[in-house]
Amino acid sequence: MPTIITHAVVGLALGRLYTARRMPRVWYWDALVILAILPDIDVLAFRFGIPYEAMLGHRGFTHSIPFAWFTGGLAAAICYRHCQTRFWDLWGLFFVATVSHGLLDACTYGGGEGVGLLAPFDDERFWSPWRPIQVSEMGLHFFKTTRALETLWSEFVWVCLPAGLLVGAVELVRWIFRREPSV
Ligand SMILES: [Zn+2]
Repeated sequence: MPTIITHAVVGLALGRLYTARRMPRVWYWDALVILAILPDIDVLAFRFGIPYEAMLGHRGFTHSIPFAWFTGGLAAAICYRHCQTRFWDLWGLFFVATVSHGLLDACTYGGGEGVGLLAPFDDERFWSPWRPIQVSEMGLHFFKTTRALETLWSEFVWVCLPAGLLVGAVELVRWIFRREPSV
């Protein structure tokens, strides 16, 4: 997995791309961050002795497209009134934020199993054909290793920087259109 910071950055960037409107902190921004990091709740599986490659193992069911679809819908049902958006729109956004996690994980190299994108319907583990992000290990001890810096750098270069540039470009376009005099 990339570090949870990077997953959270992607969730926030998606939220900003979706709208320039002022959105509620808890029901929108916090929800996006939680959804983007939620799939890693499956690290608890190790505690219960569930093997990595099992459907409920790490990068299994909670990293799948069906899980993102279901969880995104559930979260949207709770949040959409507070966000004053249409339910379906928010479901779409929350789905993308959740599924972004598994897709990012599939772009990592350096350890672990692929991502069970189709669980629970199919237990195949998938990798992206392009994997530029160095994998991060779980636990704070990782940040004491020399590999941590390389991981954070690769996440910055391949995820956070492009996400920031994209948001910046969209904000620029929004700004230009706002300034255009109305006829
Ligand atoms: Zn993960």
